[in-house]
Amino acid sequence: MAELLGVGLTNHLDSILAEFKAKQSIYGYPKRKMYLGFPGLDLGIDFHGRRAETPLGPASGPHTQMVQNIVLSFLGGGRIMELKTVQTLDQLEIPRPCIDIRNIGYNVEWSQEMRLEDSFKEYVTAWVLLKLLEELEVLGIPKGSPFYDTVFDVSVGYDLQGIRSQAMQDWLRDFKNAGNALAGLLDELPARFDHLKQADIPANISDSITLSTFHGCPANEIEAIVEHLITEHGFNVIVKMNPTILGYDFVDQTLHRDLGYSNIVLDRDAFEHDMQFSEGVSMMQRLKDLAEKHGVNVGAKFTNTLVVKNNQAVFTDEVMYLSGTPLHVLSMNAMHRFRLAMGEHFHVSFSAGITKHNFVDAVLCNMRPVSTCTDLLKEGGYTRLFDYLKRLQKEMTDAGCSTVKELILSESGKASIAAGGVANANRIVPALLADPRYHYESNKKEPPKIASELELFDCITCNKCLPVCPNAANFSIHTGTVEIETSDYRFTGQDFQAVPGPDFVLAKQDQIANLADFCNECGDCDTYCPELGGPFVEKPRFFFSEESYRQFDQYDGFCFLTKYEMRGRIAGGEYSLRCNAGSEEYCWSSEKVEFKLDPAGRLLSGRTLNGLAAGSLIQMHPFHIMRILFDGVRNNPDDYPAVLLHRENL
Ligand code: SF4
Ligand code: SF4
Repeated sequence: MAELLGVGLTNHLDSILAEFKAKQSIYGYPKRKMYLGFPGLDLGIDFHGRRAETPLGPASGPHTQMVQNIVLSFLGGGRIMELKTVQTLDQLEIPRPCIDIRNIGYNVEWSQEMRLEDSFKEYVTAWVLLKLLEELEVLGIPKGSPFYDTVFDVSVGYDLQGIRSQAMQDWLRDFKNAGNALAGLLDELPARFDHLKQADIPANISDSITLSTFHGCPANEIEAIVEHLITEHGFNVIVKMNPTILGYDFVDQTLHRDLGYSNIVLDRDAFEHDMQFSEGVSMMQRLKDLAEKHGVNVGAKFTNTLVVKNNQAVFTDEVMYLSGTPLHVLSMNAMHRFRLAMGEHFHVSFSAGITKHNFVDAVLCNMRPVSTCTDLLKEGGYTRLFDYLKRLQKEMTDAGCSTVKELILSESGKASIAAGGVANANRIVPALLADPRYHYESNKKEPPKIASELELFDCITCNKCLPVCPNAANFSIHTGTVEIETSDYRFTGQDFQAVPGPDFVLAKQDQIANLADFCNECGDCDTYCPELGGPFVEKPRFFFSEESYRQFDQYDGFCFLTKYEMRGRIAGGEYSLRCNAGSEEYCWSSEKVEFKLDPAGRLLSGRTLNGLAAGSLIQMHPFHIMRILFDGVRNNPDDYPAVLLHRENL
């Protein structure tokens, strides 16, 4: 199984600058869907004393574990980034696939899949990169504008012992004061970015934590973790609540009878073992007092995913975790009930089944941030964030409000934002059950499939697999159509004789490929691909380095050694292809031969390697595959995959 491997700051910067200049897109995200601010409107909110330009962000999960995820979220208008949960057990084997968003949403993935130090590097790099985009005014917004106000919220898990471990203590301290790491990253920038080395980048990346605990974690352990994070580290802390806090009977009634999801099998034990509502309220009241003494805030996030029995054929685990539309109804109820118990000033954040249809209502309930995950795994991916903000823009404009606060007050008729949030929730939450949007009948459809198996090249080229990937791991290469009558070559003992080979045909102008080091085989692109087999399985896989190409040698794949030389493994055979700059002559070698060829695969000269027996046939299909991919990447040098694959340091 491939592992996630990030690339460095310079590589990201180079790829962003090249692609945006040439194509007005970044990691394939088009400018027309980028949030560039709405004139006359201030969407900003306060989050534990830091301003965020919008109340929106990606939830801790698949959209916040790598640098490009965070940049893509920023482009869509996300400004509170709930980083993927870090924990001491950082070498987990997550089963694959781990995400099933055919309709409502299930997963079996949880914490960051990268090592602690690698996660640290990804998050710090993303922080620096966002600041450099501001410094360079890449999007055309002047440096210093509140448009750039972005908050990073750390997520940690999962038990007291792990969070008190030395590794986690160091991680948290370093993240709160990342001066050395920032200086190291800036120092590594090459001379062409010398002007960025003095950029003023705050070293305190984050002072808030969202705590995620295991199902069944006792309330006293959760409380002890929060105490530790406040007293030892001085963080503001938000506790992620489980939807089980609503109790079995309420969830059973809501999911099964009111909304009609008779296919969801609840895990009754989880309701008994998880923290109970009254325990949660008294715990948060004590923690509120403690936080006040230490000059920080506490709050609660609604909610974690809901553990249910696995009755589907996608995952192998006994349980899976429900997200999406039905969870929205449960989590809104949990939030409202909990906040009524705690008082209107109690801080709540929210993530459960947020879409463009309910985002504004969630904002009206004064939840900060309103974050999203399942919806971003559907067609369009991160661009959906922008649609949420367009809805907010429309509501604010229609209501004649220029700030989010004004909107909350105007919709509630209250004098304070805290009272307004509760009043709006009084209206919005009870109405959810009657909204057909949340019922099973509106959420049972699966993405369409056609009876066609994916192959290495050519497909219906719908491009759905590109934006649904949270890591921007799938990409499209423009190759143009190809039709070549090929020759294979038989070794006579002295020279090579051409014999007719199979035609090499590409019917489509563009081909899909995959960046293996960005792909964790989550399976989401397979769900949305109309053809069968999974793009990440069947399409050409590119590794960023020869090292990872060699490490994952169970896969066919490719890697560039330089811009002019590529390695390839095809059906287990090892090949190399190179070409001098500006030349139309290719040097292709296998374990047996080294050939000089023209682009159509006509032999110009050849020699044997390793004692090729007379009569042996050299099949040239691997050459044609490699030549197409090699030229496809080289001829589109401003596309982010080309910049990353042709990295400077190679
Ligand atoms: S390419 Fe597909 S399987 Fe790989 S990370 Fe992206 S969506 Fe998941
Ligand atoms: S691989 Fe599948 S999803 Fe991707 S473009 Fe081809 S048919 Fe569409």
